[in-house]
Amino acid sequence: MHIAVIGTGYVGLVSGAGMADFGMNVVCVDIDEEKITKLKAGEIPFYEPGLKELVAKNVKAGRLSFTTDLAEAVKRTLVIFICVGTPPAPDGSADLSAVKSVALSLAETIDEYKVIVTKSTVPVGTNRWIKQLIDENKKNDVKVDVISNPEFLREGCAIEDFMRPDRVVIGGESDHAIAIIKDIYRPLYLAETPFVITDLETAEMIKYASNAFLATKISFINEVATLCDKVGADVITVAKAMGLDPRIGPRFLNPGPGFGGSCFPKDVRALAYLGKQNNHPMHILEAVLTVNERQREVTVQKVKQICGDLPGKTIAVLGLAFKPNTSDVRESPALDIVERLIAEGAKVQAYDPIAEEEFKKAKPELPVKYATDPYEAADGAHCLLILTEWNEFRYLDLEKIKNLMAEPAIVDARNIYEPARMQKLGFKYTGMGRGNFA
Ligand code: NAD
Repeated sequence: MHIAVIGTGYVGLVSGAGMADFGMNVVCVDIDEEKITKLKAGEIPFYEPGLKELVAKNVKAGRLSFTTDLAEAVKRTLVIFICVGTPPAPDGSADLSAVKSVALSLAETIDEYKVIVTKSTVPVGTNRWIKQLIDENKKNDVKVDVISNPEFLREGCAIEDFMRPDRVVIGGESDHAIAIIKDIYRPLYLAETPFVITDLETAEMIKYASNAFLATKISFINEVATLCDKVGADVITVAKAMGLDPRIGPRFLNPGPGFGGSCFPKDVRALAYLGKQNNHPMHILEAVLTVNERQREVTVQKVKQICGDLPGKTIAVLGLAFKPNTSDVRESPALDIVERLIAEGAKVQAYDPIAEEEFKKAKPELPVKYATDPYEAADGAHCLLILTEWNEFRYLDLEKIKNLMAEPAIVDARNIYEPARMQKLGFKYTGMGRGNFA
């Protein structure tokens, strides 16, 4: 089976390398020449654990290659996966310009039967629109089938998620095309991965509803956490006990500085937009976004509570990525929070094991002093603010940190430390929703 994957970001590159590892011949296409040059040289343009090795192994085996030439790549392939970005437009809708551009390029080049598979997260109706665009613009009467195959991988454990997904969703109208895509995922089928075979619209909705529900869980527990702080309850025990009810489940009930990343914020906004467009406002989702925005402010307020007014204060920020094990800072809470701390007069010394360069690119104007380790960041600081739960922050030498800081104060926005222990060590400490310890 020959496959083309268009877009070599997190989804495209992981899926392309994953399918090559299943034994298929995969050519990955991108318009970004720099990215393709790097990939050809064996470099991965972003950090994802295990990806470099997986790519190298499959390139060496002759099953994975890279190009900027879409026409050439598509010529030899039966199945084409669209994995380009669908970033948020200013009005909250999904910006489909990259998807449209790919569809029009495909219409130009296709001269035999193809299955076009959309892995990008796209609003309900988009796959039908892609088919229409291609049918209206193609230069011949060859048949094209369109399949919706949303991707659920998580950055930081993307390979594991691709290789062992909770489910594979395949939406389409052509039994023939569905059978071809099922065949690609045959290795997973054998591992008894649940497959959901459905229509285009339902497949598209599954992706948005899933992300919106996960984001709802986060905003819910964040809102409960802030109330816990006010009334003296401990959210960790609350969440644990809630999670023991199998109707609720224990996962995704960890309070923090609010969700970020390239998916949750944009997908919640896009689903809310779809609701508005269809005269059906999604009240819960509007609240999820409002709470998420407020959570940044809650975090800044905690810093101010613990170390007073910010002018003249130095804040050590640990973690810039939106979550551990990724270099991605898209919509990371750190972007907002660091900006606000600086705007209110604080100096910021920041450390992230991987995401520093991406953060600099996203906020070149911010006068952040970047440290090479957590201890350098803590040196002379009046407050240590933990924004990302990188494993290396869980085992800091806290005596050393205390001695380096101007004031021993910690705002643990990821609840990675136990309040009682921190107080015993002599820190002024506040977590998120730790009640009487707040
Ligand atoms: P990304 O921004 O990392 O990568 C997108 C790539 O597409 C870029 O390399 C870009 O150069 C390329 N591209 C843009 N226009 C192109 C064109 N016309 N031709 C060829 N290449 C083009 O994006 P991503 O994070 O991989 O996300 C891709 C899609 O998958 C989005 O819709 C996203 O919502 C969805 N998704 C992302 C994740 C995730 O964790 N990142 C998970 C599931 C689904």
